[in-house]
Amino acid sequence: MGFSPEARGFYRNELEGIRQAGLFKEERYLHSSQDAVIEVEFPEGAAPRRVINLCANNYLGMSSHPDVIAAAQEGLRTRGYGLSSVRFICGTQDLHRQLEAKLTSFLGTEDTLLFPSCLDANAGVFEALLSDQDVMIADRLVHASIVDGMRLCKAAQDTFKHSDMEHLQEKLIEHQDKRFRMIITDGVFSMDGDLARLDVMANLAEKHNAMLFVDDSHATGYIGKTGRGTHEHAGVMGRVDIITTTLGKALGGASGGCVSGRRELVAMCRQRARPYLFSNTVAPVIVAGALRVLELIGSSTERRDKLEDNSRVWRKMLTDAGFDVKPGDSAIVPVMLYNAKLAQDMARDLFAEGIYVIGFFFPVVAKGQARIRTQLSAAHDRSHLEQAIEAFVKVGKKYDILGKGKKEIIAAYGA
Ligand SMILES: *Cc1c(COP(=O)(O)O)cnc(C)c1O
Repeated sequence: MGFSPEARGFYRNELEGIRQAGLFKEERYLHSSQDAVIEVEFPEGAAPRRVINLCANNYLGMSSHPDVIAAAQEGLRTRGYGLSSVRFICGTQDLHRQLEAKLTSFLGTEDTLLFPSCLDANAGVFEALLSDQDVMIADRLVHASIVDGMRLCKAAQDTFKHSDMEHLQEKLIEHQDKRFRMIITDGVFSMDGDLARLDVMANLAEKHNAMLFVDDSHATGYIGKTGRGTHEHAGVMGRVDIITTTLGKALGGASGGCVSGRRELVAMCRQRARPYLFSNTVAPVIVAGALRVLELIGSSTERRDKLEDNSRVWRKMLTDAGFDVKPGDSAIVPVMLYNAKLAQDMARDLFAEGIYVIGFFFPVVAKGQARIRTQLSAAHDRSHLEQAIEAFVKVGKKYDILGKGKKEIIAAYGA
């Protein structure tokens, strides 16, 4: 027998173990498009409910923007549904090259290469550029897909403590014997919403002769005065050697990613990056939609300004109500609860109150760092935030955590 009873038993046990540990991931079914308010079926079989969405990466509200949908439809009509090919065989349309040029100009880099996703960009970029004579020095909180990409690369690996620039400097000095050094960081860190210190990093990179790599997936489109990303915010545009980012968040939320940066590095990825060489091209419908998104956000900062305003207002509402909120400048606003069960219980109660949020806990964040991560969107209006804070206060009172800090919450609930 191929799939033996023993094998089936083994996997059933594993799944049960995940459930017992409280780590089982449940899907919730949306019956609507992605927006500020969505219709969600949860638990499975329940009648869909309209809830305010505070957990999407739909930062600029582009996921169901009528102009983006119209452009995508036009792309579908004129360029077809799929290309049935990888890029270098017969999967590159003029649209793909136009999108790469638009991304290059938006990000302020020299060239750009599209990938099926940013996960794929990260999976391919390190192996394409570095060898066993080199070293990758990464922040300890980088995204899982960077960790995976580094594993596929033969260069030596090292890490520095999260955002600790002295530690990074020590590592750069320690690795001066290597041919190339690459500093690797996220632009906005997804769980805390804090920004990488790119001004310091760019200086360190130049002083210690290293390349600087930034994954700006949670920033592209809205961080910085014109939304170009953390490099704009930090005043180091043109000094980041490689940016990877996604089309799956602020830039429309469909799918797709890219490597953007120094011309020669991007050209090497075109020759060597395996997810580019061996996975299908991004569909024309997505490329056409993303082109429209870049036109919209390139011609006006209205949406990123509204998002900045929403984030500031929401942060203040939570803080004034007595929640323990992580400080930061992004549209990611984590409400700290420390205890995993508390985070899950509160998220469930908030859903009952019409607010869709998710509790995060180990292993997604460190042990004792459980939280509800809220995310703002330019699609939210003040009335959404007012409804949401009312529900948060009601639930916060129920669990008696308002006005309490880390020590008191842990004393009451454990970590
Ligand atoms: C979301 C995210 C990714 C993955 O992007 P996809 O295009 O969905 O694969 C990669 N890196 C970071 C930092 C992210 O936040």
